[in-house]
Amino acid sequence: MQPVAVIGAGPFGLSTAAHLRARGIPVRVFGDPMVSWRDHMPAGMLLKSTPVASNLDAPQPGHNLVDYCDAAGIPRLVTDEDIIPVETFIAYGEWFRHKLVPELEQVRVVSVDRRDSGGFDLKLDSGESFTARAVVVATGLSGLAQLPPELATAAPDGPTPMGPVSHSSQQHDLTRYAGKELIVVGAGQSALETAALAAEAGARVRVVSRGRGRVAFGAPPWKQPRLRPESPFGRAWSLWALSYYPQPYRYLPAQTRHYLVRRVLGPLGAWWLRDRFEGKVQVSEVDRITGADATDGSPTLTVRTHAGGSERLTADHVIAATGYRVDTAAMDFLGNELRTRLSVSRGAPKLGAGYVSSVPGLYFTGLPAASSYGPVMRFVCGTEFASPRLANHLSAAHG
Ligand SMILES: Cc1cc2nc3c(=O)[nH]c(=O)nc-3n(C[C@H](O)[C@H](O)[C@H](O)COP(=O)(O)OP(=O)(O)OC[C@H]3O[C@@H](n4cnc5c(N)ncnc54)[C@H](O)[C@@H]3O)c2cc1C
Repeated sequence: MQPVAVIGAGPFGLSTAAHLRARGIPVRVFGDPMVSWRDHMPAGMLLKSTPVASNLDAPQPGHNLVDYCDAAGIPRLVTDEDIIPVETFIAYGEWFRHKLVPELEQVRVVSVDRRDSGGFDLKLDSGESFTARAVVVATGLSGLAQLPPELATAAPDGPTPMGPVSHSSQQHDLTRYAGKELIVVGAGQSALETAALAAEAGARVRVVSRGRGRVAFGAPPWKQPRLRPESPFGRAWSLWALSYYPQPYRYLPAQTRHYLVRRVLGPLGAWWLRDRFEGKVQVSEVDRITGADATDGSPTLTVRTHAGGSERLTADHVIAATGYRVDTAAMDFLGNELRTRLSVSRGAPKLGAGYVSSVPGLYFTGLPAASSYGPVMRFVCGTEFASPRLANHLSAAHG
């Protein structure tokens, strides 16, 4: 029987594969386990999500973060005040994978093409080709880093940590900037934590943020309003609805859906980061960045100030913590014919019930599913909703 191919071995790929296996569906799972967390986030990072919102959903009990802590003999991470080091989360993902997805193949899928007779042809970078009856794309953040054009002009050879400009996804070891002047562009958790970690490593850091009052931090758990319902992201009716009821999200108008994905759970530093940031990192709030150049290898940003003037900000390096943008055109492993058949909305696949795309047998989960199922899909806790539903749909349609 032809297997189902799961492309991706981050939280979403591993969780989906575990659910498919539990339904007796043969799967082949591809990817570098937890690589986004290991190589594309800064060493020493702490997770913004709380322990209860950081479980990889499994079909059977005993595979939560707290179960891993018990198995590894480390103190249990359970309350909203317990903060998860990224290294612990990576080890949890590896433990989950060894227990529930032991057959993981650490190779890349280089192409996926639809077969006229049904199913898909896949090619791997090992040279092997095979046919799958269905494909689940769980490639997460890979290849989707967004560098705004006004910053790209200072990096004609592309962003890199050794050049004038990099994207935050290229930064793992921030100690390389000790003694240097660094600009971090952005106001989200990634920007603020990268800035704090670089300052702690000995860099002189300035965060450049568009708008006013955008650099802000969330309330600690003990100051959250008690009368609002609890959700993995804090107490608020909107967060509660988006976390527990993503099902109707795809029926909202496209404009509303894209807006909510961008704005809900948007730029806000974690409560525990405030003390490590304030007084240690300089903040420049600007109306907008109008351009960037690099002479002698050092980047300079030209910004329009809120007073309407123009200013130039120089540094030894600029890190663009400017996020990710889902675009199926950037998923170069999807064959041309397949891509042209995919219905998309602003580059993101339009998904129906059970996370299936407009091409029967082709599923998307994690970040690429956010414009259909809401902002919860950008976070690990989204596996709880997504994985069982995707597996049920796939099992009914192709099991
Ligand atoms: C700085 C930062 C901090 C974050 N902190 C949190 C947090 O605290 N809590 C939270 O819930 N979320 C957080 N997130 C979001 C988090 O990254 C995502 O929720 C999660 O990683 C998505 O998991 P995923 O499985 O979809 O993709 P990823 O973890 O990105 O995994 C992608 C997988 O796809 C594989 N892959 C890609 N292309 C191919 C191919 N062609 N062939 C084979 N395999 C391929 C890769 O090898 C990898 O295994 C953070 C994100 C960033 C950037």
